[in-house]
Amino acid sequence: MNYETLAVRAGLPEDPHGAVGLPIYAVAAYGFRSLEEGAERFASGEGYVYARQKDPTGRALEERLSALEGAMEALVFASGQAATFAALMALLRPGDEVVAAKGLFGQTIGLFQQVLVPMGIRVRYLEPEPDRVREALTEKTRVLFVETMANPALVVPDLEGLAALAEEKGVALVVDNTFGAAGALAKPLAWGAHVVVESLTKWASGHGSVLGGAVLVRDSGIWQNYPQFLERDAKGQVPWEALGPRCYPERVRTLGLSLMGMALSPFNAYLLFQGLETVALRVKRMSETALRLAEALRDHPKVQRLRYPGLPQDPAYPMARKYLASGGPMLTLDLGSQEAAGRFLRAIPLPKAANLGDARTLLVHPWTTTHSRLSEEGRRQAGVTPGLVRVSVGLEDPEDLLAWFREALEAV
Ligand SMILES: *Cc1c(COP(=O)(O)O)cnc(C)c1O
Repeated sequence: MNYETLAVRAGLPEDPHGAVGLPIYAVAAYGFRSLEEGAERFASGEGYVYARQKDPTGRALEERLSALEGAMEALVFASGQAATFAALMALLRPGDEVVAAKGLFGQTIGLFQQVLVPMGIRVRYLEPEPDRVREALTEKTRVLFVETMANPALVVPDLEGLAALAEEKGVALVVDNTFGAAGALAKPLAWGAHVVVESLTKWASGHGSVLGGAVLVRDSGIWQNYPQFLERDAKGQVPWEALGPRCYPERVRTLGLSLMGMALSPFNAYLLFQGLETVALRVKRMSETALRLAEALRDHPKVQRLRYPGLPQDPAYPMARKYLASGGPMLTLDLGSQEAAGRFLRAIPLPKAANLGDARTLLVHPWTTTHSRLSEEGRRQAGVTPGLVRVSVGLEDPEDLLAWFREALEAV
């Protein structure tokens, strides 16, 4: 089945009342009829016990996400940050190393620097090109971490090349696929990534109404390279021998959900499940509108530089063509100075907010907001300049948007 068919069908459980749609299980605990049944459920991990670990509403969302992104297993979390943290905690130990792309999402850098580094994990940042990465990998590297599309630089790395290198070296390639819009725009697992982490808050939710995140895992043997899957665990079993490729998602569930409790509420799972039914449609329309804006504004005298990966002139175009279903819903305008960006943002009647993937077009000035905690040099390395305005294109009529952009540019 194709994406749009799966988006409305996959993951729907059998319902005793014939509900057409996903019922919400607002329930914390699931009971057992007998001692034996309780013992069996605890031993096997099958079925439901307590909603911190797994619940039917969240499970439906996990199954739908697996179908949409081609994962063997998916796990949902309270936010994208929680998903990233859980995915990495299951792979890293003190003394290990992460090799990460430059220009990551600001809070991901914060998580690395303020949480992982004090735990004794080394993180190095570099251009995510396979040749550079090959030189940088060491015996201690356990994770290669990149994003499907860096924000706001809007560059797409060579996912296939990085995945082949990671496989060769026995290192897990973890891709933050938030910009891949739950597979509607990009599917890194299909190119060989071992793990996807993503925020469902953005395009998957689609209405800026709810937080959520996911970890998606491909079927792979990479886990045999990690001591945590070859040593006896708390249950006395060797995870790789007992569970095979499922040893990793099981560990993510145990650490991130059972023990750290970063669980998604069933109400939010329900909203996200519904968001996925229209994500492909929304992203397609947003991409068409973004292309319309990009073509109309790229030669505008007030625009010093416009970046849109769907424009053949854009440096990201070759990779975007290979890895993305369309040019995507994001573009940036460089208006030359902070003052010009300020005038433009004051003049345009659209919300200014540090979010993405909303039904409404959202604008932000990364220099003074999302990237303001980085040094000036750090910002420039991430592709952020004082005049840069980032646009997450929404579902408004493209001609209305274009008129607002043109009028606001007059104010610059
Ligand atoms: C928003 C975002 C996150 C974090 O997700 P939350 O749901 O806000 O916790 C991670 N990565 C990227 C690329 C994001 O845009």
